[in-house]
Amino acid sequence: MLGFRLTPEQLEIQKWAREFALREILPVAWYYDTVDETPLPVLRKAWQEGIMNADLPREYGGRGCGLVENVLITEELAAACAGLATTIFDNSLGMEPLRLSTNTELQKKYFTEIARNFKLICFATSEPTMGSDISGIRCLARRDGNDYILNGTKYWITNGGLADYMSVFATTDPLKKHDGICAFIVEKGWPGVSIGRRIPKLGQRGSNTVGIQFKDVRIPKENVLAPPGEGFVLAMKTFARTRPAIGAFAVGAARSAMEFAIDYARRRQAFGTAIANFQAIQHKIADMYQKVETARLLVWKAAWEADQDMDPTIAASISKLYASEIALEVANEALQVFAGYGYTKMFPIEKIQRDCRLFRIYEGTSEVQRIILSGFALGAYKPAMPPIEDLPIHLDRDSVNLESGSAAWRCRICGHVHYGGEPPDECPYCFYPKSAFKKV
Ligand SMILES: Cc1cc2nc3c(=O)[nH]c(=O)nc-3n(C[C@H](O)[C@H](O)[C@H](O)COP(=O)(O)OP(=O)(O)OC[C@H]3O[C@@H](n4cnc5c(N)ncnc54)[C@H](O)[C@@H]3O)c2cc1C
Repeated sequence: MLGFRLTPEQLEIQKWAREFALREILPVAWYYDTVDETPLPVLRKAWQEGIMNADLPREYGGRGCGLVENVLITEELAAACAGLATTIFDNSLGMEPLRLSTNTELQKKYFTEIARNFKLICFATSEPTMGSDISGIRCLARRDGNDYILNGTKYWITNGGLADYMSVFATTDPLKKHDGICAFIVEKGWPGVSIGRRIPKLGQRGSNTVGIQFKDVRIPKENVLAPPGEGFVLAMKTFARTRPAIGAFAVGAARSAMEFAIDYARRRQAFGTAIANFQAIQHKIADMYQKVETARLLVWKAAWEADQDMDPTIAASISKLYASEIALEVANEALQVFAGYGYTKMFPIEKIQRDCRLFRIYEGTSEVQRIILSGFALGAYKPAMPPIEDLPIHLDRDSVNLESGSAAWRCRICGHVHYGGEPPDECPYCFYPKSAFKKV
């Protein structure tokens, strides 16, 4: 059964998130972008009102939202500011490996803290020399009795400068690649943890991005999220559940760019009329609208699959890839509608376009999503069509109803179909011998 109507509860959540975004985020978004700071008061408000951690399980004091509700919330936040949406959502990303792990004691300890107190948790796979290839992690976790000793550097870590806790992926042996990857919860206050300077960025400047260094950090065995060999799968399962939210960020940002462009096109006059009356502008708006709508459907489908306990990996990749690419296109065309004013910092599109550029990079680049999707299409995907060499392409009308005793023989090289009891000795088109023919 298919259904595209949101429930009354989901509509309420969407309204609640939209009100929060318009009240708390939109008025300050450009200021924090300009000064390149992350507003802790806004994060605290998001925590107090339950916008942050909306997916925290109920048994630990959270709201227990599913992914569909989460993408409704993140679209609204990103419509106001993609950078602040990223920083607010980052707790869900940081919590996801813990939620997926089987370490219930660890869940109880940290989820309860996160629900009761204003605690931030970040997610760290990337390093200065590696982002896409997670099997190439170098951050080293050495066994010491029951504990692990962590040494290495993580880079690009969203909220790394603010977070109290970190979901850190490391390796017990870089040569073991996937089989060496493990994961831990690390606390910022532990000896040996150092936070680097805030990294200056093109866009999403309201989000905090830093490097984190670990020097002989002792991790007790209780804080193991995934033992060696299980960390890589944990990271992939995490992304399959968080990529739809990145798609939702992109939908939200693109939607705002489109809405601002529509508003401007109605007001701006040229050649004695509103530019909205020109077909060239109308077509831009049509393209923007269909892209935003299509991307949202893909995001909702991926989130829905995850909520149904299906494996959302492929739908998540499609939604992240498509939404992040159209967001940049929509922002670019919106800027064209604004023309000169769009290029200035006094109008909203310039920031939206800078913010949108990141969607194609974090949580798996567009290239990585295409690797995942082509791997699926060329591998596990089950086609409905028969293999080409079995295709019964009858070009000869009389031969469609083959007389008994006769058969169709298809040349596997050039596709010629021969009718008769036997294949010909040689193909009359490509000259391949009888053995090239297959009965179809
Ligand atoms: C603002 C920001 C916030 C971030 N937040 C976090 C965070 O919170 N936690 C975290 O762990 N990481 C975070 N990241 C890191 C992000 O996930 C990585 O930047 C991303 O995965 C790409 O890695 P990379 O930059 O090292 O590029 P690389 O992996 O070095 O790739 C460089 C280029 O090569 C392409 N490429 C790589 N491998 C292949 C291949 N096999 N085939 C084809 N093309 C390929 C890539 O697509 C890319 O175009 C963040 C990054 C940014 C910029």
